[in-house]
Order: sequence, then structure tokens, then C-alpha cells
Amino acid sequence: MTGQAVCGFHPTQRVASRRQLILNHKVLLTGGAGYIGSHTAVAMLEAGLIPVLLDDFSNSDPAVLNRLKQLTGHALTCERGDVLDTQFVSDVMRRHQCSAVVHFAGLKAVGESVEQPLRYYRVNVGGLLSVLEAVQPTTCRSIVFSSSATVYGDPATVPIDETFPYAPESPYARSKLMCEDILASLAMSDPSWRVGVLRYFNPVGAHASGLIGEDPSGIPNNLMPFVSQVAVGKREKLRIFGKDYPTADGTGVRDYLHVCDLADGHVAAVKRLLSQGPGFTVNLGTGQGTSVLGVLHAFEKASGRTVAHEFVPRRPGDVAEYFANVSLAESTLGWRASRNIDDMCRDAWNWQQKNPEGYRSETASTACELHAA
Ligand code: NAD
Ligand code: UDP
Repeated sequence: MTGQAVCGFHPTQRVASRRQLILNHKVLLTGGAGYIGSHTAVAMLEAGLIPVLLDDFSNSDPAVLNRLKQLTGHALTCERGDVLDTQFVSDVMRRHQCSAVVHFAGLKAVGESVEQPLRYYRVNVGGLLSVLEAVQPTTCRSIVFSSSATVYGDPATVPIDETFPYAPESPYARSKLMCEDILASLAMSDPSWRVGVLRYFNPVGAHASGLIGEDPSGIPNNLMPFVSQVAVGKREKLRIFGKDYPTADGTGVRDYLHVCDLADGHVAAVKRLLSQGPGFTVNLGTGQGTSVLGVLHAFEKASGRTVAHEFVPRRPGDVAEYFANVSLAESTLGWRASRNIDDMCRDAWNWQQKNPEGYRSETASTACELHAA
């Protein structure tokens, strides 16, 4: 491997001895060409697992495969197709004999889900059902699912732990809870299934190499990619949604998590399931809240540029403050985030500067094994 070991484990983690035993298993990453999936593929390789990517590229670019090859020295296998095509997923499982699945594939824009609920339920809920039906006849019984902190809605207090009541406020959040329910029913009906549900807080940043990162199409909805685009000169100014929240500086507070820490969380989750550990549902965050102004200032420090901004009214549906209690993830997975907001901004800026147009300037080479359905 030629990539830097920046997606490695935190030195204090307690699963080291167990993880040595879990090597060379193939792990199917649905949505593996996307933002979190591509970083997880790198972390898996570094941990001795073999990622098999499956993606229809509806929200990613095949050029990411070149970058992954540059970064890791490996031509990763990527199967091109739709998770809703159960026969296709079955064929992929049969061809690769995967021991575990991480199901990333899905739609993720909260606002869009309000406008297109049926599409969100079809892809997110239908996609999970299709994957499970494809996996059920095989010997694979380990699945990690990408859930979201949005299942908690507007919490009464922070930090949020896994026992907090559910209050999904959008079809997107409801689709995630439906998927969690489906997985719980499956594990109850057949205890040989081991299910890991990961509720992500706010993944940001990029691999420190600057070779892979977040590549939103159109105007970014999320704060960090928007700030990056203002800093690089693609957008005029950041609109800060609300300055009168009951927070220290009046702007919204979130739990930003470096995508490489998140990727490591998936490795820890898969290893736990493959070592016959019981299923779990855990928050993945840092446990630290950062305000919008806090992100802006950290980004200005990382980039050496001023980020023009203005205050505008609150964005409908936003909550004031949101951050995780991560003690269950630490005790269950032996995982905790090691990168802080300065690291996240540094790596987001490095990616943005090196790839002002994301992956779009490149075409996929034949160096990676890309199979069409
Ligand atoms: P992403 O859009 O970058 O990656 C998802 C990938 O899935 C894309 O490559 C897309 O092409 C692929 N895909 C979509 N529909 C597909 C289909 N029908 N068949 C095959 N492939 C398909 O998103 P991401 O940020 O990497 O998120 C991954 C997962 O994590 C999603 O399930 C998302 O809901 C969840 N999540 C993301 C965030 C976040 O802020 N990024 C937060 C919480 C949860
Ligand atoms: N935000 C903002 N301007 C933007 C995008 C986001 O002020 O252009 C704020 C938003 O109100 C929230 C924080 O940044 O307080 C994080 O928003 P994001 O959409 O990234 O994550 P989410 O709200 O889904 O947690």
C-alpha cells in the first residue's frame, strides 16, 4: 500500500488483539464509490479486509476508482449496478463470497426527501430489503447499516445517547428508522444475523492525501462543503442560518466528525461482527459540539483565507444544538474519533484546493476492475 496510514486506528483502542485475527475477508460496500464508502474502502484495506464496491454512480463518479488505486496501490473491484436489482446483488455476492456487508447506498438529502418521499422510501427502504434478500441465501450474516443522528429529531437535551426517543422529522429520517426496524426484526427472527447500526453525526473532511473527498453536485446543502467553496472562490459568501439560537455565539452547534474517523468506525464495526460479537446500535460522533462560527473560524485558520459571510434567518427544521454521547461506541467497538475540527478543516481545504471541480475533470481509467450489471 502506498497511502499514508491516516485512516488507521487510534493507538489507545482496545480491539487490537481481536482485529489481528480478522484478515482477508471480503466486505461488500454498497454505495462504496460515495463519500463515506470510498474512505471506508481505504480504511478496510489498511486493516487487512478486502472491500468489494457496488455502486450505480447515481451520486458518485467512477473517477474515484482511479484515485483509490493511486492512494492504496490496489485496483479495487467495483460492480456497477443498482441495489434495487436483487438478482444483481445476488450475483455479486456469489461471485465474491463476501463475509460481511456495509450498506451505504441510498439517498441522503433531507430537503429532497420532503419533496420526493416515495423515491426516498423506495431507494432507502427498498434498497435495504433487496440487499437483505440477496444476502439471506448465502452464508454471510454480518451487516453494518448507515443510519443517521436525524432519527433523534430535536433532542430535549445534549449530549444525545442511544436511549433518546426517536423523533424523525423527514421522510429521510423515517426511512432510516424503518431500516433499523427491518434489521431488528430480521435479527429477532434469525439470531444468526449480526447487525451493526451506526448513527452518524456530521461527517466532514477528506483523506489527508487530498485524493478522495466529498464531491457534492450543485450547490452544497451542508456547511463544510459550502465554506470550502467560498474559500476557494466558487461561491461569493456563506449564509449563516440564524444568529439567535440559545448557544454560546448564537449559531447552530453540531458534532462534526472526520470522515476517516468515521471510516475507522466501520472497520471496528465489521471486525466486531466478524468475530461473532453481538449486534449493536451506536452513535458515531466526536462528542464535541462546534458552532457555525466555530467552523468558519477554524476554516479561515486552516486555509489562510477570509470566508465572507452574512447572517440570514434560521433554516426551517434546523435545531439549535446537537452532539453525541459516544461512550457506547467506545465501550462496544473500542473506537473513538482522534481528529479535531482543525484537522477536519485542514483536510477539507486540502481536498478543495487540489480538486476545485471535484472528480469531474477526470475520467475513470480501466486500471480498476469496473463491472457493469
Ligand atoms: P454518497 O451519496 O456520497 O454515497 C452513496 C453512494 O450510493 C453513491 O456513490 C451513490 O452513487 C450510491 N447509490 C445511491 N443509490 C444507489 C442505488 N440504488 N444502487 C447502488 N448505488 C447507489 O453519500 P454518503 O455521504 O457517502 O452517505 C452514505 C450513507 O450514509 C447514506 O446511506 C447516507 O444516508 C448515510 N449518512 C450520511 C451522512 C452524511 O452527512 N454524509 C450522515 C448520516 C448518514
Ligand atoms: N448552515 C449554515 N449555512 C449553510 C449550511 C449550513 O449556516 O449554508 C448551518 C446549519 O444551519 C447548521 C450547521 O450549519 O446549524 C450544519 O448544517 P449542515 O446542513 O451541514 O448539517 P445538519 O443541519 O444536517 O446537521
